[in-house]
Amino acid sequence: MSEYQLYKQQVVDTCHSLLERGYLKETEGNISARISGQNTFAITPSNYDYAKMQANDICILDFDMQRVEGEMKPSVESGMHAGVYQTRPDVHCIIHTHQPYASALALIKSPIPALFDEQVARLGRSVDIIPYAPSGTGFLKNAVKAKVKNNNNAFILQNHGVLVFGVTMEQAIHNMALLEKCALTYLLALMTEKKVSKIPLPIREIAFAKLRADEKKFAEIN
Ligand SMILES: [Zn+2]
Repeated sequence: MSEYQLYKQQVVDTCHSLLERGYLKETEGNISARISGQNTFAITPSNYDYAKMQANDICILDFDMQRVEGEMKPSVESGMHAGVYQTRPDVHCIIHTHQPYASALALIKSPIPALFDEQVARLGRSVDIIPYAPSGTGFLKNAVKAKVKNNNNAFILQNHGVLVFGVTMEQAIHNMALLEKCALTYLLALMTEKKVSKIPLPIREIAFAKLRADEKKFAEIN
């Protein structure tokens, strides 16, 4: 059995779970997991139906995009995932989807400010917009690398979708669902055209500092 089997299975199980829950459709989006202690990661193949996907279809790449294991063509967004792993040692799992409510905010280029305590405790100070660049290009990879340095865990890709991180796959899934809930609630609030209130700044800073401390601790031991 491949030394990467557990990572491949984790990625494919996550795909099936998110497909069932409606966050992924057909072949859209991509999911990856960092291989602990290596400059490699497991990522979904390009343009392949999630319903048919099995562990052996998952690709293992190094951070220079060289294939380590797997027969299928890796996701066109592999460079973007590698860029995040290189920039953020605390990130061990990445989920990219085109989930509809957050994608609506991607069209009006509206970042999500600090609306809820649990949002800041998991996603960071705000959910920012990463400026548009075509899928699968170095332009998008560079735009992502520049933005994720702010240490938040959820981002909206302008006219595209979302990018969500976790120290574990469980947390990445939780963060992705939390982002969609925040996006929907924020859209509903915006539609009233009344002023949207935010949580107090000191509370935001305390929650974010705790999140960063936990992530640094995790990055040191993994
Ligand atoms: Zn996409």
